[in-house]
Amino acid sequence: MAYKSSSKYSRVSFSDITMTEQRRPIGILGTGDFARALAKRLYFSGYDVIIGSRRPEEKSLSAIDECLCNMSLVSTEECIKSVSIIFLAIHAENFKDLLEEHDDKLDGKIVVDVSNRDRPSESHSNAEYLQRLIPHASVVKAFNVISAYAMENDYNTSSRQVFIASNNEMARGAVSNIARNMNFTPVDFGGLFAARRIEKHPLRLFPDWRGPFGFTVAVFNIWLLYLIFIYYIDRTVYEWEQIFVKVLNKAICMTGITVLSVTYLASSFAATLQLYYGTKHIRFSRWLDKWMKNRKQLGLVSFILIAIHVIMSTLIMSPTYLRSWYHSTKIVIPHNMSEAYEFQNINWMTWKGEAACMTGIFSFTILCFVCVSTLPSVTDTLNWREWRFVQSKLGHVALFLAVVHVLVMGIPGWSKNPRKIYKSITFLSSILPWITILLKVLFSLPCVDRYLTKIRKGWERKDERCRANCVRPKKEGYVIMNVDDTTDRISGICPCPGDTVQMVTFDDTSCGCTNANIV
Ligand code: NAP
Repeated sequence: MAYKSSSKYSRVSFSDITMTEQRRPIGILGTGDFARALAKRLYFSGYDVIIGSRRPEEKSLSAIDECLCNMSLVSTEECIKSVSIIFLAIHAENFKDLLEEHDDKLDGKIVVDVSNRDRPSESHSNAEYLQRLIPHASVVKAFNVISAYAMENDYNTSSRQVFIASNNEMARGAVSNIARNMNFTPVDFGGLFAARRIEKHPLRLFPDWRGPFGFTVAVFNIWLLYLIFIYYIDRTVYEWEQIFVKVLNKAICMTGITVLSVTYLASSFAATLQLYYGTKHIRFSRWLDKWMKNRKQLGLVSFILIAIHVIMSTLIMSPTYLRSWYHSTKIVIPHNMSEAYEFQNINWMTWKGEAACMTGIFSFTILCFVCVSTLPSVTDTLNWREWRFVQSKLGHVALFLAVVHVLVMGIPGWSKNPRKIYKSITFLSSILPWITILLKVLFSLPCVDRYLTKIRKGWERKDERCRANCVRPKKEGYVIMNVDDTTDRISGICPCPGDTVQMVTFDDTSCGCTNANIV
């Protein structure tokens, strides 16, 4: 028996009935937050929703939300019987209790598991557990990455992805269609094994930002400790009360320029390896791979630091804080003065102040352009050449101007005290940026650039190919490739963590590969 929600809105007109009859029926088990949000969304996407509850007679959906009044609230058993696609909007701990007695009625039906885990797992997933409980149904993992709030309130979600996994291809297709009709973008993850990855997704906490953030904190601490050493321990240059802006501003600026150079240094490292091995078909070691993938985060972190430096420097822009940036005025007051003495004190900036301001402002402005181009909406409007121009060329120009900004401040001091250059913060913080810029210039030389472009288009230096294919990272989770001597073809295997995999090592003398087992 169906318990229709009792409300004045529950009266259904003839046109509504015709429309309802044409709608495709979908069942939802559970009446919690997610079930209600999903029911509304499905209803407004053109589906006839039947909600199954353990105690339908005790529930009144319309009392919670008037939009739910058009939906049937029935017992779990009746819901399962009435539909062929059922969303299981209950917690994984309750799967067994709820479904044990209905196992036979679920034969051949599609059961969508939306559940999430409290902790990520490499070896289990709720969906695989559910499939073992109801082996004759087709379990599909989907929608767990969408919150109840987004499901209910956010209808402009075409860019939001719904990851879908199932061992039954037809079931995957059916759930993908439902996701599309609900204005989500379905992403097919293949078999139910992939549910492990899908269930990990909502538990992630900025995984791409952890490395760059940790690196930045480490660099910042090193620079700050060094500044404290030279300004407070080695010699007493500043008061301790100046540590919050004057000294911190220097540490932030030095960290910003270091992280910016590290962002661009990754591609030079990759280019060096490609030139050395004479091929682009080398697997970078794990750290380089991660470094390359985190360039966007590193660049954004450096931009934030440089923006903070710009704000702080603007706040302290005065002859008191930046003495060498301004002309000083010497005023001599005569001893025998009897009348009021009036003087006008105008402190123009010196060439150093003006040049530092100019290079700093240009560098920051260009960096703003580079950062804006990483916004997905802007990236979409750029073609590959424009994107590379902004990210690579303009990025390096910004780095170059930032180094000039540092040198303008540093060089006058170096010439006064040449023996202490190696201690100077402007000298130390400009070493890495210079290396980055020089490498970029080197790789941009026409002869090197032509050769590198050839390699990146797939050309290989024959004699070195064997060496390149044999150099492999010694960590699990990477594709390990072999050169097959007889066919001269490259084959690959993809080991899982804990697997014993064949590690290939290079034999210099015969250009052959010898295998060693690693775990
Ligand atoms: P909830 O509010 O606690 O609702 C769970 C529902 O499960 C209850 O209303 C109950 O409905 C039903 N149920 C069936 N057997 C049960 C039992 N033995 N004990 C208790 N309840 C039982 O949970 P929810 O927030 O809607 O989440 C439901 C599922 O969606 C979870 O697996 C969750 O991980 C997933 N999810 C939730 C969100 C979200 O934002 N909330 C987002 C993504 C995924 P009846 O009493 O009517 O049977």
